[in-house]
Amino acid sequence: MQSQTSSLGEFDLIQRFFKTQSELMLVSNPGSVKLGIGDDCALLKTDPAEEIAITSDMLVCGRHFFPDANPEWLGWKALAVNLSDLAAMGARPLGFTLALALPEANSAWLEAFSKGLFTIANQFACPLIGGDTTAGPLNICITAFGSIPKDEAIRRTGALAGDDIWVSGAVGDARLALAALRHELELKNGDLEIIEARMHQPTPRVHLGIALRGIANSALDISDGLLGDLRHILKQSGKDAEIFLDRIPKSTTLRKQSQTIQNQYAATGGDDYELCFTAASSSRDAITKISEDLNLPLTQIGSIKSMQSSAPEIHIVGNDGKELDTQEAGLLLKSFDHFA
Ligand code: ADP
Ligand code: MG
Repeated sequence: MQSQTSSLGEFDLIQRFFKTQSELMLVSNPGSVKLGIGDDCALLKTDPAEEIAITSDMLVCGRHFFPDANPEWLGWKALAVNLSDLAAMGARPLGFTLALALPEANSAWLEAFSKGLFTIANQFACPLIGGDTTAGPLNICITAFGSIPKDEAIRRTGALAGDDIWVSGAVGDARLALAALRHELELKNGDLEIIEARMHQPTPRVHLGIALRGIANSALDISDGLLGDLRHILKQSGKDAEIFLDRIPKSTTLRKQSQTIQNQYAATGGDDYELCFTAASSSRDAITKISEDLNLPLTQIGSIKSMQSSAPEIHIVGNDGKELDTQEAGLLLKSFDHFA
């Protein structure tokens, strides 16, 4: 089929699908953006009391999604995963750039992509401020900018022995959706729709990240699997952890599956974009209050321990109260690696 918009040039495309909506956002809320799309660079105003957080995430066709993937979901997810990185550091979103390689200028595809992108951009008041557009194999790369009061960024290096380990929301749903879509298991009517949204349209925990400034000692967002990602905190903080398997928060949909699947998906499933963070036990009341204010479950799943050997270890306590042996634990510690 011929492209519906063979006459649509690069600049018309940018104007129609990106610049107009971006300008609308900036008129109602210029925030820190002095200059958006249209010049060689965008201009952000800086505040000497703040630091700028910068993150990039790329979605590659054939690697992260299929060529026929719903473009509205792609627009949403491409920005959501970047906002999730800002959230993990406690940053407030300022704006983002979009580098887009497109096989063709298909206006129906661009319309839907732009709709998904601006829905979440508006939800988190994060305007599109620039980018690049080129013909090529479908590839979506977003760079997001955020702001954090000086020295308040929540880093992976700050976990302390005795800290509680917390997880937001529920984990394992995106993995469950993937299994259902691959026909590895059957889901009841209605359940697939609920968890598919969790996979395609994750909610970045931006408000949680901001609320955790000064409370969390370390944090990250869960993109490759809870326990595998937790290991990044342990490595960078030089600590061990103890995790209680039955405390890991799971959705009602996941809890309909066998115990083995529940544990495996919740511990290793990627793509949930919840936050995992550590905080002193004296902060429990403050964290409960944040959970109530944001109407977001926050669950304490274990604690940080001082490191016993030369490499960080995660001790997993099973549903029977006993620590899992190395082989059982090994299955729950796998995480996603593009090059493994
Ligand atoms: P240059 O050639 O100077 O890099 P371009 O001609 O590629 O600039 O882009 C023109 C303007 O449109 C720039 O302000 C750029 O940031 C913006 N832009 C290009 N592509 C996109 C996109 N996909 N989304 C948002 N802004 C874009
Ligand atoms: Mg260019």
